[in-house]
Amino acid sequence: RKIILDVKGLQTSFFTDDGEIPAVDNVDFYIREGEVLGIVGESGCGKSVTSLSIMGLVPSPPGEITNGEILFQDKDLTKLSEKEMRGIRGNDIAMIFQEPMTSLNPLFTIGNQLREAIKIHKKDWSKKQVQERAIEMMNLVGLPRPEGLMKDYPHQLSGGMRQRVMIAMALLCDPKVLIADEPTTALDVTIQSQILKLIKNLNERLNTAVLLITHDLGVVAESCERVVVMYAGKVVEEGPVHTIFKDPQHPYTKGLLESVPDMRFKKERLYSIPGNVPKPGTIKTGCKFAARCEYAFDRCFVETPELYQTADDHQTRCFLFDPKEVQAHDRTVVKS
Ligand code: SF4
Ligand code: MG
Repeated sequence: RKIILDVKGLQTSFFTDDGEIPAVDNVDFYIREGEVLGIVGESGCGKSVTSLSIMGLVPSPPGEITNGEILFQDKDLTKLSEKEMRGIRGNDIAMIFQEPMTSLNPLFTIGNQLREAIKIHKKDWSKKQVQERAIEMMNLVGLPRPEGLMKDYPHQLSGGMRQRVMIAMALLCDPKVLIADEPTTALDVTIQSQILKLIKNLNERLNTAVLLITHDLGVVAESCERVVVMYAGKVVEEGPVHTIFKDPQHPYTKGLLESVPDMRFKKERLYSIPGNVPKPGTIKTGCKFAARCEYAFDRCFVETPELYQTADDHQTRCFLFDPKEVQAHDRTVVKS
């Protein structure tokens, strides 16, 4: 499958009184046509700034893309004017957010907002065509009795139904890429799972590539093929989902995996990685995870690890996977 979105060396910084703060620090990843790629990490790891960078929505000032390329169908999105980006947003690349209440206007009915969204793109359509399309979209995302629901206001719908409406709006123009930033975080577990199934189902039916951003590896397990793990603005591990779950390499990924709720063992308290994500720009030397890493050794505090290729489709930013290190110390600690 062809690569549809190719992010290369992306650097997005915020300029503050303390100087340049790199929120996204030399990040590379790609999505193939029709693929579901997960980006996972705790909040503050740069996931949302990455998606805003792709959409051309980094608040500027103080934010700015200072380096890198975002190639979409051979165009570098970082080079486009705001007017050109408006043509791409919503048409070729669409986005849904965590809390649909903030993206829906509380003063207008669902039908009104859907119809307006359709009319932006289909200016010559008749009232009847617009109405039929709205009903078709509501059916597509599994909303029951569309005619009745369209007369409702956003607050009359449940959180899960509102998110379905937002997905319908995002898919109106048949985008090539859908970016979903924590789309289920505000929902309870059963609804969460239904929305993920819907996204996966639409991905298969419409062949829309999906960039699914989440702090929860459990969400990734349900819906993604590949996953990129981010920590403190950097990619720390990338690989196929089944590999990452079976053989996580980066100590951070291992920590995230241990904090996935497992319904089979009713654990009383969920594990969480001790410590916090460092503020961007505060750690200048060494591995950014060192302060929280139970495997850290001397080198980790003075040198910065690169991404080591551990298999054709698997890479990890950790010295434990530096071939030199493995040779010198015969480190097997990660396999424990
Ligand atoms: Fe831990 Fe060192 Fe690997 Fe960083 S490089 S994750 S500190 S072992
Ligand atoms: Mg976020």
